[in-house]
Amino acid sequence: MNPLETPSFPSRLPKVGTTIFTVMSALAAEHKAINLGQGFPDFPCDRKLIAEVNEAMLADRNQYPPMIGIAELRNGISQKIQNLYGHHYDPDTEITITAGGTQGILTAILACVSPGDEVIIIEPAYDSYRPSIELAGGKTIAISLQVIRDEHGQVASYEIPWDALAKAINSKTRLIIINTPHNPTGMVWSKVDLDSLANLVRNTSALILSDEVYEHMVYDAARHHSVASHPELAARSFLVSSFGKTYHVTGWKVGYVAAPPALTKEFRKVHQFNVFTVNTPMQYGLATYLADAEHYLNLPAFYQAKRDFFRAGLGKTKFKLLPTPGTYFQCVDYSALDIPQAKFNEADFCKWLTTEIGVAAIPVSAFYEQATESGVIRFCFAKQDQTLTSALQRLEKI
Ligand code: GLN
Repeated sequence: MNPLETPSFPSRLPKVGTTIFTVMSALAAEHKAINLGQGFPDFPCDRKLIAEVNEAMLADRNQYPPMIGIAELRNGISQKIQNLYGHHYDPDTEITITAGGTQGILTAILACVSPGDEVIIIEPAYDSYRPSIELAGGKTIAISLQVIRDEHGQVASYEIPWDALAKAINSKTRLIIINTPHNPTGMVWSKVDLDSLANLVRNTSALILSDEVYEHMVYDAARHHSVASHPELAARSFLVSSFGKTYHVTGWKVGYVAAPPALTKEFRKVHQFNVFTVNTPMQYGLATYLADAEHYLNLPAFYQAKRDFFRAGLGKTKFKLLPTPGTYFQCVDYSALDIPQAKFNEADFCKWLTTEIGVAAIPVSAFYEQATESGVIRFCFAKQDQTLTSALQRLEKI
């Protein structure tokens, strides 16, 4: 063997390529397309939040914070969850600050899933779940959201497949991953849905990981129903949320995981050797900013206006709109467009849309292991009105 050659080794993730969000953002940049693909705002965050972080840095809060996160931020999160969802998490034993939602999810999975354990996910599912389960040696059991079609065969909405979920749960089920509001479909769990889940897991040892990073993006006067609002579920759940989504700072990568002491204890064993902790000044800035509830209570109205603006514009295109009860994503069905590209699979349609029309989107098939083609793509509307208007002008020409 050539001594300068890197020895080969078996991949830990043989089927994984580069995440679709990175792929589509790169393609959008290459073709100077308007990027409605990866979910991030194109408008600035509040200057007050930056000032708070700046102040923390200037006050020399630049060394390691406690491994679990600073007390001020954990206390603020505890208070916030108590006010919104009526459950008290002890900031010292039940809340950990993470480097964003994705790290919280991976760490929770590594902390509780052993080789051979089964983990249930509901597809379309966020693309980090499956590889995270695989790294833990777990077996992914994927069930599909029920696709409800209208009389023309186009996708109208999605529902939780309760029968399939009931059948999938067995003595090997270690974890069930849920996501509400749901990326990419925008589907929002109801109180009845949480009750149904609680009924299914009551006499099992299944834990729950609830990805609630879009908790403040629920529209039309509906409410977000957190696992924290359901005592039975809270007792067996990791609750994951993210400041990046809530405060328009996705690049800061700060989030948190709330879970009962027995889960948090194991979570922190992994967390301390994964990232150890999360950057100090951002934590101080967020702790001060979090104290003003207006900063997140205003969010549904803010994003609902964007959703309605974008939907009104899409109404003038030939795309079929799917409902968006939550998240900052709008899914559309392109399968009935009167163009040859309507026959493309979702990934090819998104490539064409990016390179030829100048608008990047995400294929919903990327949220399935076995690409499931429904003729549906996802746009992110967390953008300035001007950006949405320019994108709409391009989409109207199709
Ligand atoms: N959550 C974002 C999305 O769905 C992407 C985050 C990421 O790229 N890691 O678009």
